[in-house]
Amino acid sequence: MNASFQINDPRAAIEADRAHVWHHMVQHKPFESADPRIMVEGRGMKLWDITGKEHLDAVSGGVWTVNVGYGRERIADAVRDQLVRLNYFAGSAGSIPGAHFAQALIAKMPGLSRVYYANSGSEANEKAFKMVRQIAHKHHGGRKSKILYRDRDYHGTTLACLSAGGQKERNAQYGPFAPDFVEVPHCLEYRAFEQGHGDLSGADYGRAAADAIEAVILREGPDTVGALCLEPVTAGGGVITPPEGYWPRVQEICRKYDILLHIDEVVCGIGRTGTWFGYQHYGVEPDFVTMAKGVASGYAAISCCVTTEAVFEMFKDESDPLGHFRDISTFGGCTSGPAAALENMAIIEEEGLLENTSRMGTRLMGNLHALAERHAVIGDVRGKGLFCGAELVSDRDARTPADEKRVQAVVADCMAQGVIIGASNRSVPGYNNTLCFSPALIATADDIDRITDAVDGALGRVFG
Ligand code: PMP
Repeated sequence: MNASFQINDPRAAIEADRAHVWHHMVQHKPFESADPRIMVEGRGMKLWDITGKEHLDAVSGGVWTVNVGYGRERIADAVRDQLVRLNYFAGSAGSIPGAHFAQALIAKMPGLSRVYYANSGSEANEKAFKMVRQIAHKHHGGRKSKILYRDRDYHGTTLACLSAGGQKERNAQYGPFAPDFVEVPHCLEYRAFEQGHGDLSGADYGRAAADAIEAVILREGPDTVGALCLEPVTAGGGVITPPEGYWPRVQEICRKYDILLHIDEVVCGIGRTGTWFGYQHYGVEPDFVTMAKGVASGYAAISCCVTTEAVFEMFKDESDPLGHFRDISTFGGCTSGPAAALENMAIIEEEGLLENTSRMGTRLMGNLHALAERHAVIGDVRGKGLFCGAELVSDRDARTPADEKRVQAVVADCMAQGVIIGASNRSVPGYNNTLCFSPALIATADDIDRITDAVDGALGRVFG
């Protein structure tokens, strides 16, 4: 497979970018002497940049998004058809694709029933936070306004989402933050010893980590806590999979104290872990589920905040003129989002991509474990479906995190080999040491092996 594009004047695009584009997440000083990277075309798992270099994308568009792979004409066709029929109407009206996608989505989410549309993961999370706050005002006399979030979790880039952000480096220099967001400890079995739980493993550690949430609730006062917001598998914080015992106990605690459970599926949602949603591995019954990236695989901007009918009912009250959810997202009225999302979901079903994700995820985990036998720098391998991480350490016994610069050097070495992998970066101080893998759900065995072969070579060169 070769790139099909012809670029008339690549230099002009590079210079326009250098002069005027402020890229996400990076320090721009190096662009004074080196060209910024510009991606031009993608098909399946492959990408071509403006220099013509081919890349195998092991991170689905950089940040775990393009679940069904690049170049899906049927999504483009569905979006085009919808755009020429009706591109947009917002406010109180619905749309045909919006109705059908909500129905299709709810069919995958037993126990939930209402879909609120927005455009980004941050925005979907803000919707849930606002609903929790309004429920506190309407139904708890202004109490139960606190929202608990977990150390190392990330919920988005806006100030309220950063207020619920457990990644201190992402937050640094952006405070002060919104009040009544309260942190609970993270749950990473590999580092249980750092929380004084070195003697616990598996379900025992899982329960102890959940008990630590209960301790925070008791400290704050259960009647002040409205919701607990967690990632099912922590993504940017280091691909942290929960041990047995954790989620059942979390659910029990939420029920005991009448705390709404908000699961942030922005990364895990729509197949990434081999089930439609990450929480479905753990038998959890959430009150809110937010999702974004994989919903339309980046073919359109769409996110959803999904709730139960019980939550929805709390806003139905004509006696209170302020009692409904007085929120809008201008581009929540774009029909391209649900039109793309419907096709995206159909592709996942028709091509059996959940099954493929489970199979290829097992292969990816197996390959990473095999690498760990040969590279002492791999301290821990974690993952669920096609969402895996390898935590790098400089001392296996002490579990000392590897130097971040060398972790980034592994990513750069893979990039030079034509394989794009990720690593936690500028998120958790001292722990930006996990390599991340999240290839598209269409990955083949050859793709998986190529990815881990690249990592094998890179680890050898960087760590000797
Ligand atoms: N939640 C999680 C778990 C995320 O990883 C992200 C983005 N990386 C977000 C929320 C925010 O999504 P967005 O960037 O679309 O606002």
